[in-house]
Amino acid sequence: MQHIIDRFISYISIDTESDPNSNTTPSTKKQWNLANKLVDELKTIGMSDVSIDENAYIMATLPSNVDYDVPTIGFISHFDTSPDFTGANVKPQIIENYDGKDIVLNKKQDIVLSPSYFEDLLLYKGKTLITTDGTTLLGADDKAGITEIVTAMEYLINNPHIKHGKIRVGFTPDEEIGRGAHKFDVDKFGADWAYTMDGSQIGELEYENFNAAGAVIKAKGKIVHPGYAKGKMINSMYYATEFINSLPRLETPEHTEGYQGFFHLTKIEGKVEETSLQYIIRDHDKEKFEARKSLMEKIVNDLNTKFESDIFSIELKDQYFNMKEKVEPVMHIVDIAEEAMKSLGIKPLIKPIRGGTDGSQLSYMGLPCPNIFAGGHNFHGRYEYVPVESMQKAVEVICKVAELTATKYS
Ligand SMILES: [Zn+2]
Repeated sequence: MQHIIDRFISYISIDTESDPNSNTTPSTKKQWNLANKLVDELKTIGMSDVSIDENAYIMATLPSNVDYDVPTIGFISHFDTSPDFTGANVKPQIIENYDGKDIVLNKKQDIVLSPSYFEDLLLYKGKTLITTDGTTLLGADDKAGITEIVTAMEYLINNPHIKHGKIRVGFTPDEEIGRGAHKFDVDKFGADWAYTMDGSQIGELEYENFNAAGAVIKAKGKIVHPGYAKGKMINSMYYATEFINSLPRLETPEHTEGYQGFFHLTKIEGKVEETSLQYIIRDHDKEKFEARKSLMEKIVNDLNTKFESDIFSIELKDQYFNMKEKVEPVMHIVDIAEEAMKSLGIKPLIKPIRGGTDGSQLSYMGLPCPNIFAGGHNFHGRYEYVPVESMQKAVEVICKVAELTATKYS
């Protein structure tokens, strides 16, 4: 277990925060610091075809050790951390044999990680937790995933009696700013399918995510001196509220869960002359997703008819789609992961993601790619933590998926 702790800490000690306002890839230069280290490490443990391209996408191969054809499978993680919270100077704390009580992250600043607020902690009584010192995020998202993949490859190399086909490994920058898959060369990767090791709690296995679109609704007004405005002024802000109130009030993020979709008003910018409303639209179901977009268009048309003027306009833009459509035709790739977990005594938690993943983009780029737990909790903030035993289990899941795939095709 010390080996996995040391490896994980060596990764989180390197700041790799990504930056949504940058146009380069990787979005921040410092991501190269970890990328270059990972390339060296993959070579050191004995991986083949280790490569890094001009955008810092890393790929490597573990060759097959069987003499029959097995599909090539891949494991993918991202090495950037979220710009939501600083990842510089991470000072990890290791809590052995966790007693189920409050963990003081920072005495001076009175920052406490408490199971009375974060109930998931109680799942890990007796385990070894790695936490922050309360002043940074931890970076388990997704350096836990990278730790697990590297450790699993090292284990397979050192234990050649475990039979497996060809395995590809891929590490990407900039996932946290939604660009991890953008410059991923799916052809070069050359896998039949892959898994992102980027989920949270032990057991998580995900192959459904939202369909996602963005909408901008504009209401146009007319500015006139308020003293002489009678019958002339059109105040776009009042009209904009008509639109807001025409949408189903309870179909919003704060009123929905599970498979329920929503409209989410993210921003209003208004003055008399023009008001713009920014929405995101989310639904797992493709038909309901399309119906949501149509409803917005219909409301715009209806309101323009009602006010006998083209006050409203709408622009809709699809963002990403539910990977379920691409994964269901090859459902055995989920089944293998589920079987691997069960054989290791892990209860699979299969649930829809209320968001997107790099895997959903990759699935639409031709690489079906469910998501497996990496073990961490409370991502993107000071309360982030990871149980070492969960990372260890993720290593075992990777090895078992490789082994089961080889067995099924023998
Ligand atoms: Zn992540």
